[in-house]
Amino acid sequence: MARKKLMAANWKMYKTPQQAQEFLRAFLPMVDGHDRDEIAICPSFVCLPAVAEALAGNYIGIGAQNLHWEKEGAYTGEVSAAMLKAVGCTHVIIGHSERRQYFGETDDTVNRKLQAALAAGLAPIVCVGEVLQEREASLTEQVLRRQCQRALSSISGDEARMLVIAYEPVWAIGTGKTATPQIAAEAHLVIRAEAAQALGKVAADNMRILYGGSVKPENAKALMSESEIDGALVGGASLDPKSFAAIVKY
Ligand code: PEP
Repeated sequence: MARKKLMAANWKMYKTPQQAQEFLRAFLPMVDGHDRDEIAICPSFVCLPAVAEALAGNYIGIGAQNLHWEKEGAYTGEVSAAMLKAVGCTHVIIGHSERRQYFGETDDTVNRKLQAALAAGLAPIVCVGEVLQEREASLTEQVLRRQCQRALSSISGDEARMLVIAYEPVWAIGTGKTATPQIAAEAHLVIRAEAAQALGKVAADNMRILYGGSVKPENAKALMSESEIDGALVGGASLDPKSFAAIVKY
């Protein structure tokens, strides 16, 4: 069954609102009329209004890089799903390995954030993936199963219609090392099997699983030709309009 690919840019903590608009002025003409795949841009919170303005009337999605699971409250520095919707967000990245590594994100907080995003009608991009030591100790499958089981706990197949999972092996993020299409496909099969347990087979078959980890114009075609890979989450190579456009149009 054909799943439309999603090509998502994770800008991390790069770009001011002005730089974000400059990027889009250059990028939009390069992908004009490209409807083979979905595209989403995920800038920092402060750039969301500028990106929404530049993308007004466009089909390109706008994603945040994090959210809080509560609707509102005394949570200094946090942003709710409703706030993201109010500035035009369509997507939200949840559980990126940098948030797990540096900001105490756990499988449990990922699950809470996922529930909040789905309830608000945001398409969540939930990141999972093993670190190098886990891969070397042959623990990849076990880690992916645990991360998916806990992330998807108490979520029904019906609720999960907008859910996207990104397989991001931590050893490949920002390192220039890329998983081979075969390594990624094997991991995606584990993730899909776990999703089928949690959400049912139909929801799991419809769910997109992106690959992320040093995707570049030079390796995008080989990765995207693998039928188990339903798109890409791109960090470093999404910061330059030409490079991200080349990945989108692999
Ligand atoms: C990411 O941060 O999601 C990512 C995949 O980064 P990079 O493409 O730079 O490896």
